[in-house]
Amino acid sequence: METATYKQALENELAELTQSLSELGVQNPHNQNDWVTVPDEPAKNTADPNDFGDRSEEWQERRGTLSALETRFNNIKRALHKIEEGSYGTCEIGGEQIETDRLNANAAARTCKVHLEDEAQLPM
Ligand SMILES: [Zn+2]
Repeated sequence: METATYKQALENELAELTQSLSELGVQNPHNQNDWVTVPDEPAKNTADPNDFGDRSEEWQERRGTLSALETRFNNIKRALHKIEEGSYGTCEIGGEQIETDRLNANAAARTCKVHLEDEAQLPM
């Protein structure tokens, strides 16, 4: 299949995601698929417990955003790897061809439309 267009779209999105991720955290030097929130979780021994509560909540929110971006980042890296391998566009569950309109909507899709709901069950 023709993958050049998808590859370009994926690379563009990967660059944007890397930018967003680097604003929220740092890449784990030992595992390039892992991003760590910075600053780290606020210390629990802070003088003002209310202040800790606010900062902790904000941290949780940042962690949540980072985690969602990280999942997307890894999906895109996986898709680019599949292009290299020549297995791009194949459903990871049933092995069938992923529909073109699905790939156009999400170039990092891992499953065909039939297996759409099972995509979340796939290992990272
Ligand atoms: Zn499928």
